[in-house]
Amino acid sequence: MADFNLLTPLKQDYGTLKNFVDGDWVATTSDRYLDVTSPADGKTIAKVPLSSAADVDKAIAAANDAYWEWRSTPPVVRARYMFRAKALLDKNYEEIARITTQEHGKAIDEARGETLRAIENVETASGITSMMMGYNLEDGAAANIDETVVRQPLGVFGCIAPFNFPGMVPFWFWPYAVAAGNTFIIKASEQTPLTLARVFEIMQDADLPNGVLQLVNGDHEAAGALLESPVVKGITFVGSTPVGKYVYERCGATAKRCIAQAGAKNFLTVMPDAEIDRSLGNMMASFFGCTGQRCLAGANLLAVGDVYDELKEKFVAAAARLRVGPGLDESVNMGPIISRASLEKVHRYIKLALDQGATLLLDGRGVDVPGFEGGYYVGPTVLDNVTPDMTHAQEEIFGPVASIVRVADLDEAIRVTNASPFGNAASIYTQNGRNARAFWYKVNAGNIGVNLGIAAPMSYFPFSGQKDSFFGSLHGQGRDAVQFFTDSKVVITRW
Ligand code: NAD
Repeated sequence: MADFNLLTPLKQDYGTLKNFVDGDWVATTSDRYLDVTSPADGKTIAKVPLSSAADVDKAIAAANDAYWEWRSTPPVVRARYMFRAKALLDKNYEEIARITTQEHGKAIDEARGETLRAIENVETASGITSMMMGYNLEDGAAANIDETVVRQPLGVFGCIAPFNFPGMVPFWFWPYAVAAGNTFIIKASEQTPLTLARVFEIMQDADLPNGVLQLVNGDHEAAGALLESPVVKGITFVGSTPVGKYVYERCGATAKRCIAQAGAKNFLTVMPDAEIDRSLGNMMASFFGCTGQRCLAGANLLAVGDVYDELKEKFVAAAARLRVGPGLDESVNMGPIISRASLEKVHRYIKLALDQGATLLLDGRGVDVPGFEGGYYVGPTVLDNVTPDMTHAQEEIFGPVASIVRVADLDEAIRVTNASPFGNAASIYTQNGRNARAFWYKVNAGNIGVNLGIAAPMSYFPFSGQKDSFFGSLHGQGRDAVQFFTDSKVVITRW
């Protein structure tokens, strides 16, 4: 067994987690718990309480109480809390990443990248003094009547987080919400609650006033308490499409603002003029990085015309070279999948694909990782002879399964891509600018990559999404997030 724990020893038992409410760690009143397991070996490393609605209501009340004073704190002062949070996160960056890998399974470098992306959002939000400025026009309404727009925070916001980026996704939202003067409650994923628990411990030294930023653990019941509360002004949700649709509908019914970023099925188009050798590395990262558990992960590889033979051969050879094992081992390219249930789901989809006529070029089932027999491992899997109508080519598998689909030309690639109900991301590999432009112009997806397979927007750009991958209008991160977390008020004055 690799002794990968030696650099930063991690706890093997985090005990029973608590909620962070009103500046304190508090036990829940619920008697419902789940085990948090380490996907690398299947061992239980913590118990997560599933908060009752009453537990969440306490956080909502504290957030509401804290709001007015926080909202009246000048933006420049609020920004200084962001600087402090950033310094603390920087200092503890490696430990946060390692806990993410421990509870999620992803390769440690991916967890480091995730932690960095989280911190970048704190950096961007520390520019709130410029980002939430309004505008005005002297004599804007008539002579001697001036008109001004100010942007004001709204109150209490809630975040319902997914399991796959436990340390990053809530950072698409909370830094902007809090810097803009709102108070914020995060409901962590019940599958990966440890990273945020540690992040909250670390950020306590930033001394945010009590109630400004809180953490609750739980499942749909805790999320439901945020959704249904008349005090909560808006919800940011990231997760699967059925839940995202439901959250969006409930936000409509309860008159809340809503960002709901949802599931995905991403298509990568490879043109005959693509530089395959130079692109293979980022194709591998796209399909198999985070064990395929990324909303920006490649799922279907569209081979255009005669690129098929060369692409197939090189893609499969590169995938076969990826090393599968525990994510804390620095030499591993692909960690385990999140749970036994997910492992079984991937196996089911592979079987279904074969039943519907696809063929296997690389089979990730039955991967053996000596010393980690209890872990949830599935290797890179490549399916050939896939047609776009096959079930596994349409639905989100959320595992390391690549399907090669042959198409005649760019028009067919765009048609097939746009026929998907999802629209999170799409990429094209080509050396031809005209084709690249036609692709991003016509493809109905929110994040487009040209010669790169993971089109992940930086913190100062919106994290976009379309169709069944996104419900709402403004997006997470950057200027969109500041607009979402503030309202415009018009002041017309005559003296
Ligand atoms: P999930 O939908 O199962 O859970 C997400 C969150 O919703 C969890 O906190 C869960 O407790 C909560 N939840 C579950 N049922 C609920 C209900 N009925 N009411 C209210 N809340 C409820 O998603 P997951 O498995 O944790 O995450 C993976 C999914 O997230 C994938 O579909 C992936 O594509 C998607 N995702 C999307 C993006 C994006 O930006 N579009 C980013 C990351 C992940």
